[in-house]
Amino acid sequence: MGRDPRFDILFDPVKIGPVTTKNRFYQVPHCNGMGYRDPTAHATMRSIKAEGGWGVVCTEQVEIHPTGDIAPFIELRNWSDEDVPALARIADAIHSRDALAGLQLAHNGMNAPNLYSREIPFGPADLPVFSIYNDPVQARAMDKTDIRNLRHWHKSAALRSKKAGYDLTYVYAGKLFGGAMFFLSRRYNQRTDEYGGSLENRCRLLKELIEDTKDAVGDTMAVACRISVDELLGEEGLHAAEAQDIIGHLSEIPDLWDLTLSSWDNDSQTSRFADEGYQEPFVTGIKKLTSKPVVGVGRFTSPDTMVRMVRQGILDLIGAARPSIADPFLPKKIEEGRTEDIRECIGCNICVSGDHTTTPIRCTQNPSMGEEWRRGWHPEYIRPKESDSKVLVVGAGPAGLEAAMMLGRRGYEVVLSEATRNLGGRLVGERALPGLSAWGRVVDYRVGQLQSMPNVQIYRESPLTSDDILAFGFEHVAIATGSRWRADGVGRRLLRPIPLTDQDVLTPDDLMAGHRPKKDPVVIIDDDHYYMGGVLAELLVREGRKVVLVTPTAEVSSWMEMTMEQHRVQARLLELDVEIVPHRLPVQATGDELTLACVYTGRTFTRPIGSLVLVTARLPEKNLAEELEARRAEWGDAALKSVTRIGDALAPGTIAAAVWSGRRYAEELDAPERSLDELPFLREVAGLHSGALPWQPRS
Ligand code: ADP
Ligand code: SF4
Repeated sequence: MGRDPRFDILFDPVKIGPVTTKNRFYQVPHCNGMGYRDPTAHATMRSIKAEGGWGVVCTEQVEIHPTGDIAPFIELRNWSDEDVPALARIADAIHSRDALAGLQLAHNGMNAPNLYSREIPFGPADLPVFSIYNDPVQARAMDKTDIRNLRHWHKSAALRSKKAGYDLTYVYAGKLFGGAMFFLSRRYNQRTDEYGGSLENRCRLLKELIEDTKDAVGDTMAVACRISVDELLGEEGLHAAEAQDIIGHLSEIPDLWDLTLSSWDNDSQTSRFADEGYQEPFVTGIKKLTSKPVVGVGRFTSPDTMVRMVRQGILDLIGAARPSIADPFLPKKIEEGRTEDIRECIGCNICVSGDHTTTPIRCTQNPSMGEEWRRGWHPEYIRPKESDSKVLVVGAGPAGLEAAMMLGRRGYEVVLSEATRNLGGRLVGERALPGLSAWGRVVDYRVGQLQSMPNVQIYRESPLTSDDILAFGFEHVAIATGSRWRADGVGRRLLRPIPLTDQDVLTPDDLMAGHRPKKDPVVIIDDDHYYMGGVLAELLVREGRKVVLVTPTAEVSSWMEMTMEQHRVQARLLELDVEIVPHRLPVQATGDELTLACVYTGRTFTRPIGSLVLVTARLPEKNLAEELEARRAEWGDAALKSVTRIGDALAPGTIAAAVWSGRRYAEELDAPERSLDELPFLREVAGLHSGALPWQPRS
């Protein structure tokens, strides 16, 4: 089936300075936790984006010099000629699949604590660096020599990008990452020389950097400027009117304007807090300020929305980071008229957690993300089956659905059996919780794919026992039976059950099954620290309940720093008048009294309680797997070759981990056995320096 002519406009070529992109699909720069450490894995990941039809595929921000080092985060480096081969590997990989390769030069200025290089950071003023961990590091105000040096380093890095074969490069002044943004900012730029004060002066450094870059490489390379259009800080920050003045002032100087909100948490908002296209009000009208093409983002997954952005003259190029992570083949699917096959981003920001934990990027919807090279996984393809084995998958949660879908693609005869009427496992309840409806896309995509596979049979309302399974005669059984929330209080910090007397206790499973606490106040003990505690507080308050959230940490949902949502969750709960009790763990609960202890001093406090909701740890549902294993031990493995627990049934974790586990099962079925000494994936080991010092140490 060919593409819908309504979407033709998305496949128009667009001229960007001296280069032309074949279509309007533009993978904007995005971090990936691989950077300079894993260059071949990185190159393969980008090449798959190109294979999936993106006209432009960019790197993440690339450090141009040790004075702009953002360790501990792992991005690419372009410090010297030694970095060119790794950068070239990525450009070559992108070119091999017929896309333009973009490299985002970045000197992070006052965002760079320089923990690795130990150089003193610099920026417009003597102020602490703007870094996520509040590093005890101050930047110094740049003098004229520093500005000259920065311009020199930026130009040298641009020349190296050209040497590495890129088609497009950037000057970065966005998200309080690109150092030039600190000069644009009234609150950071407190200078009185020609680089501070008036808008023209605050723009001077950015203008010089763009002009230098164009002089250096603009004959063959496009030079983009990534700039923030609002910091959402009101008058104190860069706001829309001011950003428009800046863009109007520099209007024709770059070859492309790449627009973002600032900082990253505003740019990459999750579906819990923002809908697709949430940046539209901030980018509307920018095109009137310049004749150069404009790219913007907004978690675009709907081709109709993309077309509207172009037709209404809001954007020329459809920018995407997360939609391209969740589905690297999004453009191809639109082109081939297969929009129902698009694996839509769910807006959970698990991808961001890879960067924040300095580990390779991962994605809830696309388990192959970050595994393209090291495990050889592809977002669309998987090798054909290697036997005629029949496979039973028990449980249709994220793990079971993914395993069944990928085994189906391999061509195995698969039966997916689900105890309940609904497919989706934990997501059946979770997608109905406040703000999580987009997460249901994990289920909808997979169920949609499974429905068209004649070799996969799905049985609902089919709770299976070990006897049932043995009677069926499958060679392989994947146990994806999930997990259940504990009701005894054992969690992350509290490892003993809480003594409970006459207490009304509920777990998240109870609430999702429709049960409600008997009495207010409802005290939620959150020793899980991800979304569940906060979401349940929101659910109950919206139903008119009085809710107290107790946590041993200083902040609610503390792990959500990794998804850049923590502050939004905290704000939402405060706005909803949830009483937040930090630094406390429960000691005991009787009918109407709860005793809590301070996690620092051990001092105890009592408070009235109606009902208790425990959001603590989960237990894997492994009885079925253990029974089957016991029967195999009795009967030998002739009848049943393998029983494998996957997803939460193996160890409760994120939805992303469950999907990944399902994919792994499908990838590894019938694969040659690995020796215990063989690593499960490829890795790139740094080449050792000769060790020779460029100087003689004094004896
Ligand atoms: P995961 O996240 O690992 O996919 P979930 O908890 O989301 O796990 O899903 C587990 C699914 O398995 C649930 O839908 C549950 O109803 C189903 N299930 C559990 N035990 C059985 C069983 N014995 N037979 C069939 N389905 C089962
Ligand atoms: Fe989207 Fe979540 Fe995947 Fe990130 S991890 S790309 S937010 S689905």
